[in-house]
Amino acid sequence: MTKRILKSILLVSVIVLTVSSALTMGILYNYFGKQLVKELRKEAAYLAISVEKKGMEAFESLPHEAERVTYIDQDGNVLFDSVADENAMENHSQREEIKEAAAKGHGTAVRKSDTLSKKTLYYALRLEDGSILRVSSEQYNVPGIIGGMIQPILIMLVLMVILSYFIASRLSGKIVNPINALDLEHPQDNQTYDEIAPLLSKINRQQKSLQHEISEAKRQQEEFSIITENMEEGFVVIDNHTEILSHNTSALQLLGAKPEKERRSVLALNRSEDFQNAVERVLKGQHVVSNMELAGTSCQVTANPVYNEKQVTGAVLLIQDVTERMRGEQMRREFTANVSHELKTPLTSISGFAEIIQDGYVKPEDTKKFAGRIFKEAQRLITLVNDVIKISQLDEGKMVFAKETVDLYEETREIFKRLEQKAEEAGVHLYLYGQHRKVTTVKTILEEILFNLCDNGVKYNKQGGNLTVTIKGDEKRPQILVEDTGIGIAPEDKNRIFERFYRVDKSHSKAIGGTGLGLSIVKHGSMFLGGEVKLESTVGEGSRFILTLPEETE
Ligand code: ADP
Repeated sequence: MTKRILKSILLVSVIVLTVSSALTMGILYNYFGKQLVKELRKEAAYLAISVEKKGMEAFESLPHEAERVTYIDQDGNVLFDSVADENAMENHSQREEIKEAAAKGHGTAVRKSDTLSKKTLYYALRLEDGSILRVSSEQYNVPGIIGGMIQPILIMLVLMVILSYFIASRLSGKIVNPINALDLEHPQDNQTYDEIAPLLSKINRQQKSLQHEISEAKRQQEEFSIITENMEEGFVVIDNHTEILSHNTSALQLLGAKPEKERRSVLALNRSEDFQNAVERVLKGQHVVSNMELAGTSCQVTANPVYNEKQVTGAVLLIQDVTERMRGEQMRREFTANVSHELKTPLTSISGFAEIIQDGYVKPEDTKKFAGRIFKEAQRLITLVNDVIKISQLDEGKMVFAKETVDLYEETREIFKRLEQKAEEAGVHLYLYGQHRKVTTVKTILEEILFNLCDNGVKYNKQGGNLTVTIKGDEKRPQILVEDTGIGIAPEDKNRIFERFYRVDKSHSKAIGGTGLGLSIVKHGSMFLGGEVKLESTVGEGSRFILTLPEETE
């Protein structure tokens, strides 16, 4: 700043100095030139009077400092010269001023002097006798004057530079210091010179819009990370050099990588060949959907390329844990195969019996027996289909079941009524204890769970054994204990009996009309109600199923 001000001041000063010097010089030069001619004319006039009176004597009393005087006769011969020796001087009749004076009475001329920087002004006056009196004086010409002024001009210039530097540094200080002291955080609070005010209000406006933009960007960033961080799916954005631009925690977990602050290549997060291939393909512009094993988890990677002006500039990767889905699909496949198998057996029997009757191999008195067998198998089929429907509904989880208030004690009593005959046939005694605990639940599902547990308690009991149901009403969560004194369940079968179609003794289960789906319905049904079922059992002594329902929130 100081330099720029200094340059400006110096430029202005030099221009002013040059122009003013030139003007002054011109004016003075003209003025003094005219003044000199006047002086010469006066001096010539006075001297002429003296010469006309005294003749050549007049030149004797010439003062020392007088201008050069030359006296010339009519023929141009020099009679007197105050500076040079008149005898050595040439004839002056052809000199410009002499010729003019001879013709007009007076004449002037300007001629260069011996020295380059000066010129000589001549004034000639014709006397009455025709002789001519000439007075001359030297004057500095323009280069001469300039030469004479160079020193003071140089001194002036040096002074100007010093003064300009001083003024420039003071001025720049006055301009710059308040700017340096500005509080740009609060532009409007600054007290400074008026010229800065528009700049400050502009900064203020810009600062406000900048703050607005920053907070908007922050908000969007937060929104984005809230969304991505709450996603179960892994989310990674990469550039076209595979470098990670953004990712969420799930992505690191699924890829089996540790969090690192530095930006790095997505390929470093998981070295599996399938993953590396997927990244390579998406950066070539392909849409990739691929199932792969990542860090011990079955994952589906969906990758989409990001384009900018038809060039792939990066990609978005979505990684989903599909273990559950895969397991579900596997279970469904097994279930379908099992159902088909389970349906085939009674249908084959029905078809066989019907064929024998059709071919006339059955005596009329045996027809009833065969019809009874067909009926039994058909019943088995109906039970099986009903169980499959129930379990499918629970699997779907989409069915809307109305909730109602159920008295657990009364509900069990109803189930006991349904099982009474069966229990009697099996020689099993039924006992019901506990309180009239009421719950708000899906009655049909609860009924199904309790029936299956009690039915099993009768089916897998011993002659003369007991089935006891106790309703526990004191705890926060209602509990129903279904205990039998039957055959019991071995520890290795404890978890497996809740699987679909798993039976400890298949032929025994089939013989007593089991489908192998009862406990599976119990497990899924209690989960549907928000409860859980636990099993305690000793082989040969009996089993205890504990159904715990969710806490009632009023
Ligand atoms: P099923 O229709 O065969 O009874 P479930 O799913 O109800 O099918 O039961 C699966 C298997 O668990 C049964 O086949 C049986 O072997 C065993 N089981 C179920 N309940 C009991 C019980 N109370 N005592 C002993 N074994 C049982």
